[in-house]
Amino acid sequence: MPETFRLIDRCPGSASIRTPTLQMKKCPRCGEEIEIFSNEVSAACGRCGLIIYNDQASCIRWCRYAEECVGPEIVRKFREAEKKEGDEISERRS
Ligand SMILES: [Zn+2]
Repeated sequence: MPETFRLIDRCPGSASIRTPTLQMKKCPRCGEEIEIFSNEVSAACGRCGLIIYNDQASCIRWCRYAEECVGPEIVRKFREAEKKEGDEISERRS
């Protein structure tokens, strides 16, 4: 890939992370609307307290330029949240 490519072209997925927008998600447990900013990793339901995770930023999981695109700090936050989410799933299974 040419060196200039990643400087001029950014993937659409990262735009929502670099420019935070408020999004509404429905709580899978109680159906309450949950507000989450597009650059936030997770948000808690105001009614039942369920933690939902931001799936908007899925490109961070696989994009090799994620750190340059949105910044290493944000990538680190998302990876830590994903690790936590995985731990919770394995705890539920055991
Ligand atoms: Zn809820």
